[in-house]
Amino acid sequence: MQQITTLAGPGTDVQLSMVRFDQLHPVISGNKLFKLHYYLQDKPCSVVTFGGPYSNHLVATAFACQLQQIACTGMVRGEQPCNLSHTLLQCQQLGMQLEFLSRQQYDSIKINTALGLNKSALVIPEGGYGPLGAKGAALMCSYIPPDTTHICCAAGTATTIAGLLLGKQPQQQIIAVPVLKGMTDIPHRLQYLTSQVYSNAHLHIADGYDFGGYAKKTPELLSFMNTIYQQYQLPLDFVYTAKMLYAVFNLVQNGYFAAGSRIACLHTGGLQGNLSLPAHTLTF
Ligand SMILES: *Cc1c(COP(=O)(O)O)cnc(C)c1O
Repeated sequence: MQQITTLAGPGTDVQLSMVRFDQLHPVISGNKLFKLHYYLQDKPCSVVTFGGPYSNHLVATAFACQLQQIACTGMVRGEQPCNLSHTLLQCQQLGMQLEFLSRQQYDSIKINTALGLNKSALVIPEGGYGPLGAKGAALMCSYIPPDTTHICCAAGTATTIAGLLLGKQPQQQIIAVPVLKGMTDIPHRLQYLTSQVYSNAHLHIADGYDFGGYAKKTPELLSFMNTIYQQYQLPLDFVYTAKMLYAVFNLVQNGYFAAGSRIACLHTGGLQGNLSLPAHTLTF
């Protein structure tokens, strides 16, 4: 993989780079396979998991299960549409069986299975959320240069952030950029995921960069993505990595980072999600 892209960024006294987890694999990129690692380690005979119609997690699960010849079912939030999203088509092509649930059903089933009522299949929570997922995400740290002072990553379920906290060097600070609106429960989630509580020295939550909420976008965000591509040939996804990098550029401009900081931004993938945008929104 092209491990690092160096960015000049908005400030010159810090070093900014992008760790390209999006380039790990041509089909499945980013953090999702890491999160699945320990769930699938004991080769369950079947797997059930959950996601929306554009879920990167569903694609990654379909792919990992096909690779290991594990039967898998994806429970999809929302009624079955006439035309499946490209994400769901890809899941089907990878052999995942899809079941569509109304939002109400989806929420109640998700809760029931999380309580372990489904005994016949391994149930993986939405987004790989859980201590096992965090343990898998911790494996990502071996790809991050050891002299990094700050590791920046988008947070959805916060499982990846939990893994980074588990696997990081003691002196490194994790910067979490929540992509959901009003996501105030990150510390609570991290405690469940890692059984630990983190001080400011280890974790900074950069709030206020959700651009209206999950999978929401503004012209400013899309134009930022086009500019970054033009300057660095670096493609970002609008749900996660664009918001993360926008936040980091803002923090640099606001003097958050001390001179000499070596900042590693994680490109956690998700580029297939850009296919849901109208044609010509992006220049790449
Ligand atoms: C899922 C995802 C994330 C967020 O990971 P969590 O562990 O759920 O916080 C970040 N970036 C991309 C591209 C993703 O697909």
